[in-house]
Amino acid sequence: MKKFLAITCLILLTTAVILTAYFGIKPSFKKTPKIQNSTSSLITHLKIEPEIIEREIKIPVLLYHYIRKIAPQPDNRGWNLSVPPTTFQQQMEYLQKENYNTITPDDLHQYLKYGYPLPDNPILLTFDDGYLDFFEEVLPVLRDYNLNATNFVVTNFIGRKKYMDWYHLRYLLTTDHVFLGAHTQNHKKLTQLDPEILEQEIAVNKMTLEEWIGTAIDYLAYPYGDYNDEVLSVMKKHKFKAAFTTESDNLHRTNKLLELPRIKVGGGDTVQTFAEKIKTEN
Ligand SMILES: [Zn+2]
Repeated sequence: MKKFLAITCLILLTTAVILTAYFGIKPSFKKTPKIQNSTSSLITHLKIEPEIIEREIKIPVLLYHYIRKIAPQPDNRGWNLSVPPTTFQQQMEYLQKENYNTITPDDLHQYLKYGYPLPDNPILLTFDDGYLDFFEEVLPVLRDYNLNATNFVVTNFIGRKKYMDWYHLRYLLTTDHVFLGAHTQNHKKLTQLDPEILEQEIAVNKMTLEEWIGTAIDYLAYPYGDYNDEVLSVMKKHKFKAAFTTESDNLHRTNKLLELPRIKVGGGDTVQTFAEKIKTEN
């Protein structure tokens, strides 16, 4: 009897397998929705768009040029743009003593646009032009006080006498103390250029830096702080996230991401005047 039952079960099972195979009965899984090809087409299908909240914050963004010792005469302009290495070291010591936290342009952008939190006592240190003294005088101090800084680089000056070369720039990025940004191709006054040259100054500078240092370049400082509406539209076209002027202020706003002000630190600034300049009352 047991043998008969076993044989019957086997026959039924075999018949079921054959029928399934023959009629192609498939398991009834739900169809997976098709994945869109690009992010932009996904965005157009969003029912609710995220709200843009306008924010503002007072943060000192400091603007340095040279860190070197130079007499006020005969080059008064050069002296004005230079902070002696010992004074610079004292200023950084002050930041550490007063519990300042150095942030990057990315941190400031992420706060203003999306509200991502910033550390207490934030400060942003920026250096223009890509001078060699940044590598020789600034980097060791940043390491000593565990601070970070941003350097805005002019691509056609890279490797010239007294400027950093590509190896310096790549090395800086390995240190975790330096963030790099754009400062155009030739350091011209952007408002005085023909449209084609203007676009080239901005776009080629960004592309060249990205190609040769292998990191995204989303921030720029306008040479001489010079910009107008045409410059801003080229900046938007090339998707810069934020840009820095030389307007002296510490108030930054979401609707002015391409016009962030900076406070100049130069010849004649002591630790006391420096401390006064970076004071903010939020
Ligand atoms: Zn410059």
